[in-house]
Formats: sequence, structure tokens, C-alpha cells
Amino acid sequence: MALTLLGRHSPLASPTEQLRVLDQTTGASAFDARLAQAGLFPLHATGIAVFQINVGKLCNQTCRHCHVDAGPDRKESMSRETAALCIQALAKTDIPAVDITGGAPELNQNFRWLVEQSRALGRHVMDRCNLSVLLLPSQSDLAEFLVQHQVEIVASLPYYRAAQTDAQRGDGAFEKSIEGLRLLNALGYGSGGTGLLLNLVYNPVGAFLPPKQEAIESQFRRELLKRHGISFNHLYTITNMPISRFLEFLVESGNYEGYMERLANAFNPAAAAGVMCRYTLSVGWDGRLYDCDFNQMLDLPIDHGAPNHIRNFDPAQLRQRQIVTRNHCYGCTAGSGSSCGGAVAP
Ligand code: SF4
Repeated sequence: MALTLLGRHSPLASPTEQLRVLDQTTGASAFDARLAQAGLFPLHATGIAVFQINVGKLCNQTCRHCHVDAGPDRKESMSRETAALCIQALAKTDIPAVDITGGAPELNQNFRWLVEQSRALGRHVMDRCNLSVLLLPSQSDLAEFLVQHQVEIVASLPYYRAAQTDAQRGDGAFEKSIEGLRLLNALGYGSGGTGLLLNLVYNPVGAFLPPKQEAIESQFRRELLKRHGISFNHLYTITNMPISRFLEFLVESGNYEGYMERLANAFNPAAAAGVMCRYTLSVGWDGRLYDCDFNQMLDLPIDHGAPNHIRNFDPAQLRQRQIVTRNHCYGCTAGSGSSCGGAVAP
């Protein structure tokens, strides 16, 4: 299995180095200037509809485009103490949705506790699941647990053919994904009437933008049913963010400047007005607060006077905070935008 950037001692394992590359982009004007032209700078949150918890970087896969640089060699993991602070903070609010991500979030020892506590507070819960985790011997009861707590599953599936999926997620990943999807379908996920939501996320395999969501969704629906008898609720498209392992790919393949230019040329003010950081709060494995999971990986915590640790959680301030934006944000504003999935995303 491939190693993470950190495991390979790559300079791009450092958020500072990633930001240095992003700041020196010549293929696009600075993102903040572009936001200002659109009358959107500085960008402010409009509320908090999604409480996103990143429980850590441990994963059983090492996907080529992972923006977290997650993998089996990563040790960062949310403690029970920090998980409890998250639940205390959530209880002070009426935030409707909890979005649990990683790494493979299910491998964190507090994952199930977080799900149970969030559900006990009456919140909708989403699990960013890589599908293969469902097949691990240690997780043999995971799928039933997710059913029991009516957890929405948001699962990456780069393509409905093995070659493209394995190229991005590792040899054998496609077969495991299909097996995981079959297991979920058998339990009622992905079919109307059960309330068990199974949503897929598509991202391009190379340095290009995703196609229109509706077109690729109907293609996936038709092909997954025909080839594998699999059904799902929705398919979301995301643009690959020019950070972490995808940034390494762009730089090494000579595609970096061209990709940034492509993103900038596709800048869409309507997509910029609706970016997910405006309605999301992102909590890191160590309790630090961010505007989104991408800023979290670039070590850009919440700034401009709002609290930046869960122990100082202040919903009134956080709901209207100014968002930290840099050049990677072009990945969220290209074309029709990059929906990260989930039933509650506007
Ligand atoms: S990268 Fe994060 S901060 Fe930037 S626009 Fe996207 S969601 Fe917002």
C-alpha cells in the first residue's frame, strides 16, 4: 500500500509548504481579490447547519487524492475528552446535522459514542465512509450499527469501473467498495422508503473539473444497477482540491498551474456565495476549530476574533465569523461549485 506524504517525508506533508506553493500561483489571480470583485470579500458565515467532526487521520486506505493525507501510518486521533467537548458544544445549539469524517472515522474508538450521543440529542448524523472499512473483521457489526442509528452514509466512489477507481484508491478498492455497497443495499440503504440514505461522491481521476452532477448521477445509477445490481440515493460531484496528495500529483505531473488556471477561469460568484464553510463548523481531532476540512488540513484555524478551540465554543460568535480564505478556495467556486454531499447541504 502507498505511503502517506508524511510517511514518505515529502516536503508537501507540511501545510506551510503547501501554502507556499498555493501563494505563488501564477495561473490565477489571488482568490481574495476575485472574491472582492464579486462583492463577497470578506466572506462571512451565514449560520451553522453542519457540525463537522474530523476524528483523525487513521485510515485503512491510502487514496491518491486524499486531502487529509490519511493512511494506516497516521496516529492523530480524537480522544474521548475532546469528543465529549464536541457533544457538550452541540447540546448548546440546535445545529441539525453532525458530519463525522476522518481518515476512516469508524476506526476511531469514539466514533460510535459520538453517533449515539448525537442521535440522543436528536441530530441527523452523516458518516463519511470509504466502504472497504465495512469489510474489516474488527468492523463486522458496523453496518448494523449504522442502520440502528439511522446514519446517513456518504461514500466516495470515483467511478463505476474498477480501473479508474483502483487507480485512485488502490488495487482491489473497487471490488471492496462494491461488496460494501451490496452489504448496505441488503440492509435497506439506498432504496426509497427505508429512510436509510446512501449517497455517493464522485471526484475526477485527473486534473480536470467534474462534469455536471445530473449527467454523471444518471450514468452512475444506470451502470451500477446494470453491472452490479446496486442502488443509491444521490451522487454528489466534488472538485479535487489543490492541496495535500492531489497537490503533489499536480506538481509532479506538471499540471499545477494549468489546473489552477482552469479553476480560476471557472470561478462562479453564485457558487462562491454558497460555499459550505458559510454553514459548516469543522472540528479537528485535537479540538481546534476551522471553517472547513480543507482549511483544517492546511492548518488554517478560525481567525478574526472568533474562538478557535471547542473548549471555547461560542455559537453566537461562530455563526457570523469571518472565514479564512486562500487560493485553494478556487476548488470550491469553480463551475457549479463543489458539493461535499449530505442530506442537509443547501
Ligand atoms: S476551501 Fe474551505 S474556506 Fe475555502 S471556500 Fe472552500 S469551504 Fe470555504
